[in-house]
Amino acid sequence: MFAGTMMGFPLTINHLLERGRALFPEAEVVSRGPDKRVRCQSYEETYARAERLARALGRLGVKTGDRVATLSWNHAQHLECYLGVPAMGAVVHTLNIRLHPSELAYIANHARDVAIVVDRTLLPLLEKFRGALETVKHVIVVRDDGGPVAAPDLDYEALLAAETVAPHAPGFTPPAGPFSELPDENAAAMICYTSGTTGHPKGVAYSHRSTVLHAMAGSMRDSIGVSGDDVILPVVPMFHAAAWGFPYMAALNGAKLVFPGPHLDAESLLDLMASERVTIAAGVPTIWNGILARLDAEPKRWDLSAMRTMIIGGAAAPKSMIAAFEERHGLVVTHAWGMTETNPLGTLALVRPKIRARGGVAALEARASQGLPVPFVETRHVDDAGRVLPWDAATMGELEVRGPWVAKSYMSDEGADRFTSDGWFKTGDIVTIDADGYVRITDRSKDVIKSGGEWISSVALENALMAHPAILEAAVFAGRHDKWGERPIAAIVYKPGKTATNDELAAHLGEQFPKYWLPDLYVAIEQVPRNSTGKFLKTKLRDTYGDALLTKGSGG
Ligand code: AMP
Repeated sequence: MFAGTMMGFPLTINHLLERGRALFPEAEVVSRGPDKRVRCQSYEETYARAERLARALGRLGVKTGDRVATLSWNHAQHLECYLGVPAMGAVVHTLNIRLHPSELAYIANHARDVAIVVDRTLLPLLEKFRGALETVKHVIVVRDDGGPVAAPDLDYEALLAAETVAPHAPGFTPPAGPFSELPDENAAAMICYTSGTTGHPKGVAYSHRSTVLHAMAGSMRDSIGVSGDDVILPVVPMFHAAAWGFPYMAALNGAKLVFPGPHLDAESLLDLMASERVTIAAGVPTIWNGILARLDAEPKRWDLSAMRTMIIGGAAAPKSMIAAFEERHGLVVTHAWGMTETNPLGTLALVRPKIRARGGVAALEARASQGLPVPFVETRHVDDAGRVLPWDAATMGELEVRGPWVAKSYMSDEGADRFTSDGWFKTGDIVTIDADGYVRITDRSKDVIKSGGEWISSVALENALMAHPAILEAAVFAGRHDKWGERPIAAIVYKPGKTATNDELAAHLGEQFPKYWLPDLYVAIEQVPRNSTGKFLKTKLRDTYGDALLTKGSGG
């Protein structure tokens, strides 16, 4: 090799911290607490507090590579952990507050967390698995509700107050202290566990390098395009896939961050979006469904004129929702796909100029797809034998991805079969890819409905059902069938006061799909069961209704 002559300057979260303090000390971090009061601190204060946290953790014995867990809502202290813990060379491990206590204990023990930062309002949850923790030596309580902390637990604010921070001259170089030694860029910075429905949750350790590159990719104009002009509201929890990287994208660019705390109902979020002049908000479709309904009910109540885009991901955003936001409220949705294993941004549904030139229908189709891979993420899809399939918009296969922020393994041997011998990660998502490179998820591999020899996309049927005026939400899943193996069943949540007959629904779907795709059964339900990260829990529906199509006595 004829080596380049350029520096191997490490890509670390430390640079994000130093850059923020040196160049955008005045940029704001706004958090709303359980009492709904909004508090604001600057990037300069955030740096100083992250440094105090790092010093305090060091004093408690936290060393390079040690794992520090968080059990928290989205707020400034969580951001201080996101920045300060990796910058001192330790690893922040975000625990998902929606998991079962036994799972949380398993995850904290598996990661060998040495300390846990917990919101006081979440202490009742911690109490449910505290006794099972094997490695945690310190519990540090964020007094989000202002209440007291009982020994031996430690008070986050008191720990920070006990530290002194060294004066930091203008510029990038920190004085001697917890941030003066740069971590290796390949060292772990953050650990997230997958919310898999089968087997144990599996740990993914994001490196400094993957996190920084991911933040840079999200900042590109032909991507999310985060800039210093933005005001970002991550509704997506910080305990889910690094809040999709938004805290780091904001830190890189000096964007204002707005953290919603525990109030995630539509009205509270809309209030915050209007009062803080939010430009980018990000969350799962369920959140946006609620917001759309609220906006439809009171279209003039909130001034959302600052909004640039709403990033919707984590589950499929129905085309009808994307169109409704735009047509009825002038709000632009950007559909995104990603996974815990991809740091998480993988694809973004941006409309390329050539697609725009084809007109509105083509543009909406593109925006409702999962989109194009972001720079440095590569995509392919394969059949059951691992053969790479054509980009013809029709052939379905499993999506595989690779790139600098895609996992190359889990933190254990479990799931090793998801990493191919030629360096790709098997996503478990069934997709088509069109000639322009747009990816369309037709199913999770375990949810695809195999009727006779044919595959039926539950996602396509759900999207079409959710475009029906009487339907709020729909989940389509496989029912066992004597003759065909599996047939689709649709579980429908109707809008208040509305309903539709089976014939009407079949006629509605019949406009778009061949007859054999139409569900054999429609059941009305109160709400779609969901997992800890807001995805439809179809296993639950299958447990309840999966045998409904079987003829009597044929088992199941
Ligand atoms: P998680 O690791 O919990 O973030 O889950 C990742 C999975 O969520 C993906 O493999 C997809 O099945 C699903 N997912 C994420 N984003 C989307 C999207 N935009 N459309 C459809 N499914 C999605």
